Amino acid sequence: MDKVQELNRLVRARCPIIAINSAESTRVMDSIIDMIVLEAARTNKEHKQLFVWTVSQGLFRVLTRAEKIDGAQCFTGDSVLVTEPNVEPNVEAFLALQNIATQAPDGIYVLKDAHPYLNAPEVLRSLRDCAESLIKQKKTVILLSPHVAVPQDARKDVKVIDWPLPDNTELEAQIDTFIDQQGVSDRLNGGRAQLVRALQGLTANEADQVLAQAVITNGQLDERAIAYCIQAKAEIIGESGALEFFPAQVGLEDVGGLDNLKRWLQAAGLANTQDAQAYGMKPARGVLTVGVPGCGKSLTAKMVSSLWNVPLLRLDVGALFGGLVGQSEEQTRDALKIARAVAPCILWIDEIEKALGSGGGEQDGGTSSRVLGSILTWMEENTGSGVFVFATANDIGKLRPELIRRFSEKFFVDLPTADERATILNIHLHKAKRDPADFDVDAVAEAMVDFTGAEVEETVQQALWRAFPEHRDIDTDDLLTVAAETVPLVTTMREQIEAMRQWATRAKSASSAQRVQQQVVRESRRALEM
Ligand code: ATP
Repeated sequence: MDKVQELNRLVRARCPIIAINSAESTRVMDSIIDMIVLEAARTNKEHKQLFVWTVSQGLFRVLTRAEKIDGAQCFTGDSVLVTEPNVEPNVEAFLALQNIATQAPDGIYVLKDAHPYLNAPEVLRSLRDCAESLIKQKKTVILLSPHVAVPQDARKDVKVIDWPLPDNTELEAQIDTFIDQQGVSDRLNGGRAQLVRALQGLTANEADQVLAQAVITNGQLDERAIAYCIQAKAEIIGESGALEFFPAQVGLEDVGGLDNLKRWLQAAGLANTQDAQAYGMKPARGVLTVGVPGCGKSLTAKMVSSLWNVPLLRLDVGALFGGLVGQSEEQTRDALKIARAVAPCILWIDEIEKALGSGGGEQDGGTSSRVLGSILTWMEENTGSGVFVFATANDIGKLRPELIRRFSEKFFVDLPTADERATILNIHLHKAKRDPADFDVDAVAEAMVDFTGAEVEETVQQALWRAFPEHRDIDTDDLLTVAAETVPLVTTMREQIEAMRQWATRAKSASSAQRVQQQVVRESRRALEM
C-alpha cells in the first residue's frame, strides 16, 4: 500500500500515535498535507488542522486556511504560534504532549525530532497518557524523525511507519521540476529511465544536489550526467557506512566452472521478470552460496549484476555493528530501505555467518539477534520487491536454520575440478594479456591439485613476478614451478572443508563436475572404512 494511503488509513482508524522514520522531513510534511487535502476532498468536509512541534520553536499551527487555487483546495503555509518553547527540553516535550492531550483543538500534531526526549520518565508517561486519551478524540500525534526509537514501554501504543525513499514516479516529477526551475535543456535522448534509475536510492534532497552537480560539471543534462549521477550515488551510498555500490563489471565468461549455479541464476533472472510473474511464477527471493574461500562466491555475486543488468549493493554486516546501542538496528533499517528503493537490485550479504551466526545474541546484548530478526522479516515481507539477496558464507556451522530456510536455493561451492582449474587458468592468462594456446594449460591444471580459484589466479601472478626481473616472458615451466611451491589453503583447513562437504549433501552443488568429484571422495572414503 502507498505510504500516504497507509497513513490516512491509520488516522481514520483513530490510531492515536504514529511514528514515521524518515530523514526527509520536508517530503513527509508534503505528503501529510496531501493526505489532509485529499481526505477533505473525499469527505467534502473542512480540512483537518495541522500543528507542528519542535523543541526549539514550541507548538505552532502551520496551515491557517484553505484556498481554491486552480479549482483545487490548497493550503497556504502561514504559521501561528500556539505555545512558546520551555528552556528545559524534557519539560517542553512533556508539556507539549500534555497540552495536546488535554486542551489543544482537534487536528494532526507532527512532533519533529522528539525521540531524544521519549526516554525521560515524565515524557514517556505523558506519551502513554496521550495514547489513551486521544483514542476518544479527533487528534493524531505523528512522531517524525530520522530514527524514532520508541521506548519498549510505549511500543504497544505507537504504530511505526518506515517512510520509503522517493519512487520512480516521484523521481520523474523531480527531474521535470529541476529542468523547469533551472532552465536546463533535456538532452537525455531517451535516457530518462536511466537517469531515474541512477537516482534511485537517494533522498529527494540528495537527488536534487546530484542533478545540480551533474549539470554544473557537464554543462547540460545529457548522457554524461547519467554517468555522473551513478558515480555520485555510489559515493553517497558508500558514505552510509554499511552499503557499497558495485558497477556491473564481471561477465559470465569471467567465472570458470560453477555451471549449475550459473544455470540456476540464469533461470532465476527469468523468473524475476514481470512476464514470468504474470505467467504465475514466484520470484526468487535469494540464494545462499556456502563453500571453500577463494572459489568464486563473491565473483559470482558480481557476475549476477551483469547477467541481470541490475545494480549490486554489498551489505557489510560487520559495519552494522560496533556503534552505539540501537545504531546497528538503525543502520540495518537504512541499508534495507536503500536496497528497496534501488530495486530491482541484488543485495549481496558477504560472509553472512560473521555477524548473523549463532551465539552472538548473548554476547552483544541481543543486537545481532535483532539485526538478524529484522533481515529475516524484511526478506519475508519483501518477496517480489525486486531485491534479490545473494548471500555468501564460508562457515555453515554458524548459520541458523531459520536463516538458511529463507533462501530459494542453497549451493555448495567446492574446490574446482581439474577441468575447471584449466578454465580458470585460461581466464587469468587472458587477464594477464597472455594467449593460453602458448601454454600447456592441462598439465598445469593437473599439477594444481586442491587449488582454489584464487590460488590459480595467484599462480599466474607469481609466475609474472618471477619472469619480469629477468626480462623474459612466462612459460609453462614458470607456472609448474610456482604451482609446486604453493601449499594450497585446503591443507590447513581440511576439517572445516570436510564439515562443509557433509552439509553439502543437503544443498545443490554449484558445479556438476564438483558433484561427481564429491561422490568419488565419499565412495572411496566408504571403501576405506569397510
Ligand atoms: P571468500 O569467501 O574468501 O570471499 P570467495 O569464494 O568469495 O572467497 P572470490 O572472492 O570470488 O572467492 O575469489 C577470489 C578471486 O579468485 C576472484 O576475484 C577471482 O579472481 C579468482 N577466482 C576464484 N574463483 C574463480 C572462478 N571460478 N573463476 C575465475 N576466477 C576465480
